[in-house]
Amino acid sequence: MLNVLVTGGAGYIGSHVCVALLEAGHQVTVVDNLCNSSARSMDAVQSVTGRTLNFTQMDIRDTTGLVSVMQARSVDVVIHLAGLKAVGESVQSPLAYYSNNVGGTLSLLHAMEATGARRLIFSSSATVYGVPDFLPYTETHPTRPSSPYGHSKLHAERMLRDLCHSSGDWSIVALRYFNPVGAHASAELGEDPRGTPNNLMPFIAQVAAGLRDRLTIFGDDYATRDGTCVRDYLHVMDLASGHLEALSYSATAAGFHAFNLGTGQGTSVRELLAAFEATNRVRVPHEIGPRRAGDIDAFWADPARAVIHLGWKPRHDLADMCESTWRWQLAHPRGFQ
Ligand code: NAD
Ligand code: UDP
Repeated sequence: MLNVLVTGGAGYIGSHVCVALLEAGHQVTVVDNLCNSSARSMDAVQSVTGRTLNFTQMDIRDTTGLVSVMQARSVDVVIHLAGLKAVGESVQSPLAYYSNNVGGTLSLLHAMEATGARRLIFSSSATVYGVPDFLPYTETHPTRPSSPYGHSKLHAERMLRDLCHSSGDWSIVALRYFNPVGAHASAELGEDPRGTPNNLMPFIAQVAAGLRDRLTIFGDDYATRDGTCVRDYLHVMDLASGHLEALSYSATAAGFHAFNLGTGQGTSVRELLAAFEATNRVRVPHEIGPRRAGDIDAFWADPARAVIHLGWKPRHDLADMCESTWRWQLAHPRGFQ
């Protein structure tokens, strides 16, 4: 049993990670400033697991506050998900992204240094790779992010690498997530975007539920099999289990290690839409619109490194992703509000 600090644990991915941690018997402490989430997700985590966790509303840039939480809870290991994640917003407000994602990570590392915690699992992103030289992306693909968001993740990874070079005490795993979608099987937890969703899956679900008129497909003239962009969607519970496997790995592997977490399967926008309609027997009105600035035609993961070294195996298919999203949407049309 570990005492795990989860930063950003009230958010979409963090709340599912908390479920996996509690079900595995760990003690969980969450720090989140709730800038993009609701504390009700913490109630849902406790209700679906039947276990309690410790929640503190706090900004991770408050280093002193983090130190006192970590000391009070005897934190051994940190899963660091807190951060901002909207690519378009990062172009408009780059300083907010560097402050939260780079400054926030720096503050956390100072707190870890002060309290003696030396194991960290970091939420990185496939956006660190940028325009592909080859596909699928392996972890050795060059990193050339094309947005302040992507740069903020790469800067954070750089700090983590440098720290591991400075001392052999650190054990840090960066998980480069592809496109997490879906919800917990209970339909009590899921993605709860504020305002208009930026991401495809929650937008599709809101159109299917009649909350929005239609989906706009951002471009159908890409160099892909049906002209729409291809991504690697993975179930959020498979992503959550990857964190448990990374925790075990970090117990014995010192240094910095990066792993892709994706299924290795590319799915186009049209294919995801068709899968959602077929799985859930619903119609999703849609139209073709212009391309979204900065979108890459296609990318998907080579997950072999995570499969071999972490023993990670995604278990859910596209139908599970669509079905769980829809059940969460129906059960909680307004998310946690
Ligand atoms: P989310 O917004 O639902 O969760 C992030 C959480 O961090 C939120 O609860 C937010 O309130 C909190 N937070 C943000 N800044 C904070 C700060 N300074 N102090 C304390 N709390 C803060 O997003 P998510 O989808 O769950 O993403 C979690 C992590 O995974 C993020 O770091 C994100 O960049 C990364 N990631 C997400 C995706 C994706 O598609 N969802 C893909 C790749 C990587
Ligand atoms: N997309 C779309 N309409 C939307 C939202 C997204 O056509 O309303 C497309 C988007 O252009 C991209 C794909 O869906 O090709 C996945 O987008 P998302 O933002 O979910 O993930 P990301 O682009 O960050 O991989």
